[in-house]
Amino acid sequence: MIYADNAATTRMSEAAIRKMVSVMNENYGNPSSLYRFGQRAKEILEQARADVAAVINAEPREITFTSGGSEADNQAILTAAELGKKNGRKHIVSTAFEHHAVLHTLKKLEKEGFEITLLDVHENGLILPEEVAAAIREDTCLVTVMYANNEIGTIQPIKEIGAVCRERRVLFHTDAVQAVGHLPIDVKDQNIDMLSASAHKFHGPKGVGFLYVRKGIRLSNLIEGGAQERGKRAGTENVPGIAAAAEALKEAAAAMEANAVKLSEKRDRLIGGLKEIPHSALNGDAVRRLPGNVNFCFEGIEGEALLLLLDQKGIEASSGSACTSGALDPSHVLLAIGRVHDVAHGSLRLSIGEDITDEDVDKIIRSVKEVVAYLRGFSPIWRDLMAGKKAFIL
Ligand SMILES: *Cc1c(COP(=O)(O)O)cnc(C)c1O
Repeated sequence: MIYADNAATTRMSEAAIRKMVSVMNENYGNPSSLYRFGQRAKEILEQARADVAAVINAEPREITFTSGGSEADNQAILTAAELGKKNGRKHIVSTAFEHHAVLHTLKKLEKEGFEITLLDVHENGLILPEEVAAAIREDTCLVTVMYANNEIGTIQPIKEIGAVCRERRVLFHTDAVQAVGHLPIDVKDQNIDMLSASAHKFHGPKGVGFLYVRKGIRLSNLIEGGAQERGKRAGTENVPGIAAAAEALKEAAAAMEANAVKLSEKRDRLIGGLKEIPHSALNGDAVRRLPGNVNFCFEGIEGEALLLLLDQKGIEASSGSACTSGALDPSHVLLAIGRVHDVAHGSLRLSIGEDITDEDVDKIIRSVKEVVAYLRGFSPIWRDLMAGKKAFIL
């Protein structure tokens, strides 16, 4: 079996599992308890906070642990909205291809009277800082742009966008769930005010994430209750999960450069092989993309069928499409970069992990070639394309 869906989730690292189990066994105290056993749990929590902060060049008190990337995105955006409301600023700038944790939160705010500008994404999956600058108005309270896209892997010019926001005195949040642990991040140098991360995307446990919020910004809480996390996120802390998340992140940070070199080499081998398939195209920029991300469209086929047949061949991948309310909608990300519906339906995302070998890559290429040819064999769209009744797009 070749697991090529690391953008969906990753395998926990051995060190993270060991850490989690040891904390569960030996340090099950409540960090809010005053006896030594509780205080030991508190120390573990604070060490994890310091470790996480160090990786992105933040201060420990600027880190709030959450239940994951979705919660961090929600909290960041609702915080900016809350602050904006106080100053009569109810306009938010974002992009059309954000994660649903961002897009759905913005939709909710729209119903509450906020105005949302979703910037168009260029065909290569990038937006330009100038476009962000042009979209900012007097009443803009937040710009939220994802660091790296979870489907097509493109990496945005975060530092430049951050600079634009700083200059215009607008808060800047980035959903960096796909980037943390994979790309070097420096929140100070990159002018980032708020940043979301999720442990299960960097070989940590599921259900743990964090939100970086620059000091001086008053965070609003989503969950009311006790005074945990400086009163900004009530509920007894998930100490084993948080400790394991920090362990996984330290490990990922230490191996980041080596992993990036290895992964991008495998990624480019994979892209080179899949490009040989006629009427196919890489989605997203070839260079400014996550080291482990490959995303293709193949004309004349359905992504779902491709996935199921690849699964039978021992390859676990993902398609861009999501099955929403019974209707098969093509990916909003692929539509945002200008793929038409028919083409967007035939998409495949392969997000490879550090343990992938050249043999695995070659097996993936062989299998995708076989399956695409097989599916085209009985695709009515492909028949029309071949008969000249329909024009090829790719
Ligand atoms: C996975 C992901 C999320 C959601 O994170 P969870 O921890 O699963 O809630 C948000 N944004 C991006 C870009 C992601 O890839």
